[in-house]
Amino acid sequence: MDVRDAVKKLDPYVPGRSEDEIASEFNLKKEDIVKLGSNENPWGPSPKAVEAIRTEAYNVNRYPETDLHELKEEFAKYTNLDADNIIISGDGADEIIDILAKTFINPGDEFITPLPTYTYYEFLFKPYGGVPVYAKWNLQDNVLDLDSVLDAINDKTKLIFICSPNNPTGTLVSEKDLRTIIETAPNALVVIDEAYYEYSKQTQANLIKEYDNVFVLRTMSKVMGLAGQRIGYGLSNPEIIEYMHRIKPVFSLTRSSYVACLATLKDKDYISQSIKKGIESRDYLYREVSKFENLRVLESKSNFMLIDVHNSTYDAAGLTRKLMEKGMIVRDCTSFKGIDEYWIRISIATMEDNKKFIDVLHTILD
Ligand code: PMP
Repeated sequence: MDVRDAVKKLDPYVPGRSEDEIASEFNLKKEDIVKLGSNENPWGPSPKAVEAIRTEAYNVNRYPETDLHELKEEFAKYTNLDADNIIISGDGADEIIDILAKTFINPGDEFITPLPTYTYYEFLFKPYGGVPVYAKWNLQDNVLDLDSVLDAINDKTKLIFICSPNNPTGTLVSEKDLRTIIETAPNALVVIDEAYYEYSKQTQANLIKEYDNVFVLRTMSKVMGLAGQRIGYGLSNPEIIEYMHRIKPVFSLTRSSYVACLATLKDKDYISQSIKKGIESRDYLYREVSKFENLRVLESKSNFMLIDVHNSTYDAAGLTRKLMEKGMIVRDCTSFKGIDEYWIRISIATMEDNKKFIDVLHTILD
C-alpha cells in the first residue's frame, strides 16, 4: 500500500525510556530503577482520583460523557476563565496540538517553533502539510531569542509555539516578550504551552481576555499526576474553542479520565503538595548538580532541568548509557533539534531517589 508522502517523510518520535525496557536491557530489577526521564509526577496520583476510577470501572460498558459541563466549570474555576474558553482532550495536551493542526493548518502554512523545544509540535503538524520555521532559544543565557522569533514571522505564519517553561531548557518567557510576539503577528495564533506552569507559578492565561490570537495549552500529566490517563486542556476565546470542538473526536475523554480529572481538580491539598514537593525536588537537584565542576546545569522553572555535559569525558549517549546500567533513567537530548549531542535532561524524583541519582552521578563523574 502506498502511504501519504507526509507520513513517509516523518522522523519517528523518540519518547523517554520506560522502566520495563531498561530492566530487561540491563538485567536490573524494576524496583531498583529510578526514573528521571519523562517529566512525570513521582508521588503518584491523588487518592481521590484512584477512588473515582475504581468506582467508575463498573460503568465502562457505557460510552463516555459528551457533555463535559461539570468538568469545564471546574476548569473555569481553576483557570479563572469561563467554561466556553475551555476545550478538554482525552489523549493529553498532545491531542490538543493535533486538533490545533486540524483546525488551522492548510498545506504550506508555516508554524514557528524556537529550538530546542517540545518535538511533538513538529511531529503532529507536518502530517497536515504544516511547514516548520525554526527560531531559537539562547542556551548561553537561557532565554528566548526574541529577535529570532520576530524575524521568522511572515504572511504565511499561521501559528507560533512558545513553550513556557520550555521543554527541555526550563526557561520562562516574559510577559513583555509574549506581548511583542502577539502584537507583531496579529494574524497568527500564538500558542503558549504551559504544560509545566504550576512549577513556575507564572501563567499568561489572562492574555486570552485581551487578545484574539492567543491559545494556552495545559495538561493533567505533570503536577496533577495523571499522565497515564491522558488528559489535556486548552484555553482560548470562545470562537476558536467552538471551531476546535467541531473537529475534536467526541469520545476521546474516557469515563475513567473524566472522573479522575474532576476528583483531582477538587483535591486542593493534593495539588498544593504536588507543587511544593516538585519545587523542593527540583531545587535540590539543581543545587547538587551545580556542584559538579564538569557539568553545567540550566536553572529551570519546571520539573526537569537540562545539563550540558561538554566538559565531562562523555557525550549524552555515553553518559545516559552509564547511568542506565546503574538503573538511572535520564533523557539523552540528542534527538531534540537545535541542540548538539552533549545534553541530557533529568526530571524530579522523590528525595530518596534524587539522592540515589546524585550518588551514582558522583561515582561516574568524580
Ligand atoms: N507540552 C510539553 C511541553 C510537554 O513536555 C508535554 C509532555 N511531555 C506535552 C505538552 C504533552 O503532555 P500530555 O500529552 O501528556 O498532556
